[in-house]
Amino acid sequence: EPAQLVQMLFSLGEMVTATESVNEETLQLIGEELNYIVQVVSPEDEDRELLESFDIEFGEDEGDESDLVVRPPVVTVMGHVDHGKTKLLDALRKANVVAKEAGGITQHIGAYQVQTEVDGEDRRITFIDTPGHEAFTAMRARGAQATDIAILVVAADDGVMPQTIEALNHAKAANVPIVVAVNKIDKPDADPTKVRGQLTEYGLIPEEYGGDAMFVDVSAKSELNLDKLLEAVVLTADASLDLRANPDQDAQGLVVEAHLDRGRGPVATVLVQRGTLHVGDSIVAGPAHGRVRAMLDEHGNELSVADPSRPAMVLGLSAVPGAGQNFIVVDDDRMARQIAEKREARERAAMQAKRRVRRTLEDFMASMEKGESQELNLILKGDVSGSVEALEDALAKIDVGDEVGIRVIDRGVGAITETNVDLAAASDAIIIGFNVRPQGKATEMADKEGVEIRYYSVIYQAIDEIEAALKGMLKPEY
Ligand code: GDP
Repeated sequence: EPAQLVQMLFSLGEMVTATESVNEETLQLIGEELNYIVQVVSPEDEDRELLESFDIEFGEDEGDESDLVVRPPVVTVMGHVDHGKTKLLDALRKANVVAKEAGGITQHIGAYQVQTEVDGEDRRITFIDTPGHEAFTAMRARGAQATDIAILVVAADDGVMPQTIEALNHAKAANVPIVVAVNKIDKPDADPTKVRGQLTEYGLIPEEYGGDAMFVDVSAKSELNLDKLLEAVVLTADASLDLRANPDQDAQGLVVEAHLDRGRGPVATVLVQRGTLHVGDSIVAGPAHGRVRAMLDEHGNELSVADPSRPAMVLGLSAVPGAGQNFIVVDDDRMARQIAEKREARERAAMQAKRRVRRTLEDFMASMEKGESQELNLILKGDVSGSVEALEDALAKIDVGDEVGIRVIDRGVGAITETNVDLAAASDAIIIGFNVRPQGKATEMADKEGVEIRYYSVIYQAIDEIEAALKGMLKPEY
């Protein structure tokens, strides 16, 4: 019982509360006291063990060297906001010959493949259709590496900006080679040479200056040099990566995107990383399982098979898996269900644990009393911009001394969205809703993530409560 553990730790000289998360050292202490061996494992390790118990290894090509064939590189487009990531992804998709043959009607399924000719040979490239490094980082946080090459988009009229460097660092940390797309060269004030100079300072040296990074001047808007960019991606892959996979084994890969479709049920876009996925295969994707009922490509065409680096929208899953979770083909439906059930139980347990340690206004008060918290992060949502501003102004005037403060990390007009909850969860913030309600699945998600949403319709009431919390005088609500 939590109370017993608290008491035990107290007698060992550790002051904790029942809702507090403890460090590994303290866990070891508890273990010794109770005669348990405590082993801290990462979720990835835990999953690996689970799969091993079914004799499955994730992330390994089976067979011999001779079974491996070249697979297309998987590319993520990153860069500063407004530098043209979305436009570039759209332009590349449009320029795709295969798409034109299919009537040119493409859907956003989270990833797509294009074809290009390099040295007289047809080569394919897979693009992750979510621009920005957030998706990239979210996947990496789950231990998944979906990307082989990053295209760093830099607007030639704007030059290197903070998020350019951030993206560059993410790619470097993941050991992913970078191809630079110097975009917007159609603009009169474009200065592609300056971009090269700036990036050189960050260790990304253009080939033409003796370095090993390929820079291509493009215009996503005028569709200029897109073929050159694709060629640079293929050449970079050939020069610095050995991208091969065994297509003759049960498929494995990652979930890129998934949602619940009203007519089709759960649909997930998966990226096959090794093996070949077939219609009819029994698969587990994160905590979802099922048999592949049908597969669609980005043009809405039915696929019967998907080979390595091929994105495919899969129908037939029992639930919606999360982006970045892995998928594996297993022997039969029974095994798929068993693995999925174990994963689901674990996810639920982890979620509950997370909910317990997540911050509420009361927790903030408690940790403040112990001299820990200095800043209360808030996200403000209101019905009209005037009310949000008024609320923020009033909050700014709360003065409870130098040690504690309020930080408004985001504000906006309109209903509380899932994106708001996401940000709150990531930054331990509380959401203040002023005359607004949550939208869609926001409440469900806040519940799951343990994010507190407080609703007000009178400004002074909101201010009073927050001020009280800051002063450590808030009475818990029962
Ligand atoms: P993102 O935030 O990086 O995804 O940027 P967007 O793709 O949304 O582009 C931001 C703005 O720049 C939009 O208004 C685009 O139309 C514009 N834009 C993107 N690429 C080009 C380009 O090559 N030339 C010009 N002139 N404008 C561009």
